[in-house]
Amino acid sequence: MLIFHNPAHARHDGRQEMYRGRLVPCHETPARLQHVMDELQRRPVGALRTPGDADGALIRRVHAPRYVDFLASAWDEWVALDPANAALDVLPSVWPVRGFRADVLPANFAARVGLFSFDAGSPLTAGTWEAARTGAACAIDAARALLPGGAPRATMALTRPPGHHAGPDFFGGYCFLNNAAIAAQALRDGGARRVAVLDIDYHHGNGTQSLFYERSDVLTVSIHGDPATEYPFFLGHADEHGAGEGFGFNLNLPLAAGTDFMRWSAALDHALAEVRRFGAEALVIALGVDTFEGDPISRFRVASADYLKIGAAIAALGLPTVFTMEGGYAVAEVGINVVNVLEGFGS
Ligand SMILES: [Zn+2]
Repeated sequence: MLIFHNPAHARHDGRQEMYRGRLVPCHETPARLQHVMDELQRRPVGALRTPGDADGALIRRVHAPRYVDFLASAWDEWVALDPANAALDVLPSVWPVRGFRADVLPANFAARVGLFSFDAGSPLTAGTWEAARTGAACAIDAARALLPGGAPRATMALTRPPGHHAGPDFFGGYCFLNNAAIAAQALRDGGARRVAVLDIDYHHGNGTQSLFYERSDVLTVSIHGDPATEYPFFLGHADEHGAGEGFGFNLNLPLAAGTDFMRWSAALDHALAEVRRFGAEALVIALGVDTFEGDPISRFRVASADYLKIGAAIAALGLPTVFTMEGGYAVAEVGINVVNVLEGFGS
């Protein structure tokens, strides 16, 4: 397995997020990725690589160019408004909900932050763009390393910030560029006719679903906490099947908070059967380990040893596979759980 890790990830280091009515220290921290790197030193299940330059044109085909331009310049604009802003993170406070216009780009900076986001939990910092763009480079290189079919059978984009909540033109859920979607598009561009994205993070992969909702060449499947009670709340229900040409190519498997591994793995079996039925030629796994029983912001009951079985079940599909690193906030166990998936998958 080839593992592309992001040497710029720690440049994204938010100070605070809005969480249940208070500003609290960010859950999504550089230590998360460091624990995975440390575990990979103990158990070298793959060879580590750093990515080349990001393919900016590919990023701008997945995400709206005006959104990408905003991310690239947002920090400089923020500090130009007031040099004292350099000591603060950018957090949105106003959003264009139903009935407002999204087609007109506001001149006001705070309005643009709101236009391009959907929550106040995702601080944008001095190094966010560099970290996100280098993370996208990891995803692109991980996808391209698989092509044309053969060895290696699996690669990983080991990066943060995560990506699966980022949509065509918005950030949120700690995500800015959708690494799983970018990897899927790179696989399509490289010749895979049908690509499946399977999201096993605790939270629904709303960004990935939205990006491919009207396409039949990329199947999106997500197993997640029921959005009736769990973030991101406004997408991820079982009746979202895709639209237009994409109808029938999105599958959501929401599960109640408290679900144990036995019931969770039955959903995984369902998801894997759907990927097989679709005839995927390549697979992207949006790998979140916030399904872990000790996760501080999630409520499934998957144990560390179960992640070995998850990796083995995914490997049984026999597909070229890109893993992208998504959530997981029980910081000390993130490394063990991620590397368990990779070890279970095998080389
Ligand atoms: Zn998550």
